[in-house]
Amino acid sequence: MKRFDGFDYMHVDTLLTEEELLVRSTVRRFVEEEVLPLIKDNYERGTFPEDLIKPMAELGIFGATIQGYGCAGENNVVYGLMMQELERADSGIRSFASVQSCLVMYPIHAFGSDEQKNRWLPRLASAESIGCYGLTEPDYGSDPGGIITTAVRDGDDYVLNGAKMWITNGSLADVAIVWAKSDGIVHGFIVEKDRAGFEARKIPYKLSLRASDTSELIFSDCRIPKDNLLPGTGGLKHPLMCLNQARYGIAWGAMGAAMACFHGALEYSKERIQFNKPIASFQITQKKLADMATEIALGQLLNVQLGRLKDQRKLSFAQVSMAKRNNVRKALEIARTARGILGANGISGEYPVIRHMCNLESVDTYEGTYDVHTLIVGRELTGIDAFA
Ligand SMILES: Cc1cc2nc3c(=O)[nH]c(=O)nc-3n(C[C@H](O)[C@H](O)[C@H](O)COP(=O)(O)OP(=O)(O)OC[C@H]3O[C@@H](n4cnc5c(N)ncnc54)[C@H](O)[C@@H]3O)c2cc1C
Repeated sequence: MKRFDGFDYMHVDTLLTEEELLVRSTVRRFVEEEVLPLIKDNYERGTFPEDLIKPMAELGIFGATIQGYGCAGENNVVYGLMMQELERADSGIRSFASVQSCLVMYPIHAFGSDEQKNRWLPRLASAESIGCYGLTEPDYGSDPGGIITTAVRDGDDYVLNGAKMWITNGSLADVAIVWAKSDGIVHGFIVEKDRAGFEARKIPYKLSLRASDTSELIFSDCRIPKDNLLPGTGGLKHPLMCLNQARYGIAWGAMGAAMACFHGALEYSKERIQFNKPIASFQITQKKLADMATEIALGQLLNVQLGRLKDQRKLSFAQVSMAKRNNVRKALEIARTARGILGANGISGEYPVIRHMCNLESVDTYEGTYDVHTLIVGRELTGIDAFA
């Protein structure tokens, strides 16, 4: 199949700076040379390709928008382009980078003490430490205000009890940002993996995001020093602020997965002969391709505007929800359509399409489901909360 060389129907590249284009081509090359050759087998085995972690750190991907602490200090469009390129390979690779950057480094940077920032940010940027983020619980997903994990103050310590479910990087991580209630208020805590009473268990039988570590975290009288509290936290808005950062990157990443599926379907349709003609010559196939290309062009334009607004600090919570909701759902539809165009080959892991399709089912659910983002946008439009 012809090598992927980008897809830019609306000349979105003219909206990007030379620096932004340069970083994109660097990450694209990394994906072509180092990620794609590994991903198929890792997906089949259900393992995360850990050999990619250090090279990703060397590319400045982790905490890319943070100034100082060994981070790249890039703008938000650069960060988005990085996520787009990573997810063109696999949503699991982008998920790893999103969690490390937005759900671990961001809360430490935004809500941590100077000591916590100096201690953790450089080692997370260089991937000397790997992090995970525990908000979801077995009984609280879309409704995180109900979480029941507790952190009880006892002398100079907090004692954690509870369980976190569906935690990306949970078993790989050496540090977790754990959200727990202390006196009924949600706070963030830095919990090192080697603390007694902290256990991570991989979740088995996962049929989506297979090249990603997804685990359960269990805290049984897990004692941590009081200084592990993120002092700037106190209320549900703080974990939600972290999710908002990650959702921004997901909106970009989803278009990467969509581009991979579109490219695969377009090239396949030009080569596959049925009824003595390439299947690309049938009007039904062309409609499918035209629909896919249109949605990708729209998603790309949305992402650039999202990034520019974010850099100007004008981006609202609901605008991010709109982009996450739409770009992921469109990417999922594109992946499903592409799978159909490939016929029986569409179910084979020899082609990337079904892997992306299965991954995007998770991406549509995590960091706020499609429905939850519908309610966030609906609330902003009407001023009426329809959550409960
Ligand atoms: C692969 C993967 C990785 C993940 N990684 C992490 C992680 O690193 N850290 C973390 O904390 N969490 C993580 N999650 C959890 C994820 O964020 C939750 O799965 C998600 O928030 C949805 O919660 P739930 O699965 O409990 O579904 P539920 O909240 O039980 O929702 C079930 C269904 O009900 C719908 N629904 C719920 N409330 C409403 C409503 N008010 N109105 C209409 N419909 C509603 C939902 O849209 C959904 O369709 C991950 C999940 C997956 C699948």
